[in-house]
Amino acid sequence: MKTTAVYPGTFDPITNGHVDIITRASQLFSKVIIAIAPTSRKNTFFTIENRVDLAKAALKSIANIEVVLLKGLVVDIAKAEDAVILRGLRNGSDFDYEFQLAEMNRQLSPKTETIFLSATAEYAPISATIVREIIELGGDVSAFVPKAVLEFIQQKRKS
Ligand code: ADP
Repeated sequence: MKTTAVYPGTFDPITNGHVDIITRASQLFSKVIIAIAPTSRKNTFFTIENRVDLAKAALKSIANIEVVLLKGLVVDIAKAEDAVILRGLRNGSDFDYEFQLAEMNRQLSPKTETIFLSATAEYAPISATIVREIIELGGDVSAFVPKAVLEFIQQKRKS
């Protein structure tokens, strides 16, 4: 029986949609590892260090989670932790992409299962990409991101 889930993503930045998935998963698994993938985005609001720190701050009230920097393949951390891979599904486009990704991960590691949680209706429209666009255009993202992310944005805008 698996008791650990690895939830991988870019979390650029962590949104209320991610927090909802993680909160629900933390009630289903003994441990949820949030594995944050570095990307090559430069000169933007959220460096990899920012993304890790903001995820830790946003999730500090949940005891059975761990935030790590993802080094290498998701299937490798899942195998090392004897975990399932957890992903969120918002809509049909997510489904098409996630179905393909899950199958490729299965071919890389046949014993590693991917499981999905469907987005809660309230959070389903939230996308980190759109959140970033709103931030870059100076808009208000308070309905979409945790308080820690909002505070970071306010600080950054002042400096
Ligand atoms: P990616 O980098 O693959 O686009 P993200 O880092 O944004 O993905 O998110 C990681 C996972 O969280 C993915 O499975 C994605 O579908 C899911 N996710 C993102 N936003 C939401 C949301 N609002 N509700 C539920 N799941 C979400």
